[in-house]
Amino acid sequence: MEFSAQEKYEFKRLLEELRGKTGRGTELISLYIPHDKQISDVSAQLREEHGQAANIKSKLTRTNVQSALESAMSKLRLIPRAPENGAVIFIGAIDIGSNKTDMYSKVLEPPEPIVTYRYHCDSAFLLQPLEDMLAEKKTFGLIVLDRREATIGILKGKRIDALKHLTSTVPGKQRKGGQSSHRFQQLRLIAIHDFYKRIGESANDAFLQIDQKDLEGILIGGPSPTKDEFVGGEFLHHELQKKILDALDVSYTDESGLSELVEAAQERLLDLELTQEKLAMRRFMKELVNDKGLASYGEAEVRHNLALGAVDTLLLSEDMRKTRATIKCTNQNCDYEKQTTRTPSSPAPEGCPKCGSQLAIVEEVDLITNLSRLAEQSGTTVKIISTDFEEGAQLMSAFGGVAAILRYRTSHR
Ligand code: ZN
Repeated sequence: MEFSAQEKYEFKRLLEELRGKTGRGTELISLYIPHDKQISDVSAQLREEHGQAANIKSKLTRTNVQSALESAMSKLRLIPRAPENGAVIFIGAIDIGSNKTDMYSKVLEPPEPIVTYRYHCDSAFLLQPLEDMLAEKKTFGLIVLDRREATIGILKGKRIDALKHLTSTVPGKQRKGGQSSHRFQQLRLIAIHDFYKRIGESANDAFLQIDQKDLEGILIGGPSPTKDEFVGGEFLHHELQKKILDALDVSYTDESGLSELVEAAQERLLDLELTQEKLAMRRFMKELVNDKGLASYGEAEVRHNLALGAVDTLLLSEDMRKTRATIKCTNQNCDYEKQTTRTPSSPAPEGCPKCGSQLAIVEEVDLITNLSRLAEQSGTTVKIISTDFEEGAQLMSAFGGVAAILRYRTSHR
């Protein structure tokens, strides 16, 4: 099951919410139930844990653990069998401050199958298995080299990690006095060959550790002819050698050369999300500087354009923490109602402008979800943009997190 951009975003937010929940003791329960696990076996284990919990010294923790287990058992009664991808249950007394706790529970089917059954009781929920599902798994090996220096790294999702830096003992082109030219050239070639061999061995160590089905390919960067000599000389393990995608010109061979290499390989990496995000943001920036451009930004303007069906691509910053709320008058005889965008620091709604009664929020959804739903109605492409790269950070800081590339020019820009 492949996640859409919006589902992925919502799942990420859910994990963020779960990450923020802590118990006062080891009293939060996480259950990962694979599809083929017998629910009756799980219930039996929970009953046993319930009995064990009677030995917990702190009365408060004991009560919390036991009631969480009871609650988990009653949830299980509603699941005769775990769904296709299994079921995850989070349950427990959450610390809500000022010496109070609140019973929290969440049941969900993950985006990928659960492989291992887990029962976990701790002061925080166990989220790693879900985080692993969300992680971008496509990985690329990166090598930048010249005759003096090499850096080995990996590109995983959007992250570039430098793993190893090597320097050579290859002498410069100028020989010292007294050495024969022929002898000098020979020693130099041997030193270069040895350096390539060392680079190859280090790269093998680094890249063979990666699950080979996640290793999409290897990119080599450097000046000519060094990079071509390295590729042609087959210094990598034969399985890795087959995965070389391209050898590209880069001018740096330290850590910054790795970014330069990824930049140079844009087209090759088109499948990678980061590149797609980048390309969308670049298109937007290009439209923005064009007098007759098709860029639109700011929530109000983009909302107008969405309503007109004029948006081709909607760009939303992943870092927006806003909601779209429906606010209604609590006076039954008053029909006042409005939609408004709220931030976590927005004050509670005040009095009704029509009758003065108290206003109340009757519905509140994440702004990204709200705008994505509007986009769906007119076949608009939605891109949820991370702030991990320059243009993505700009979307948040300069454009308030909401921008669009239009199908045609409108008066709302
Ligand atoms: Zn009113």
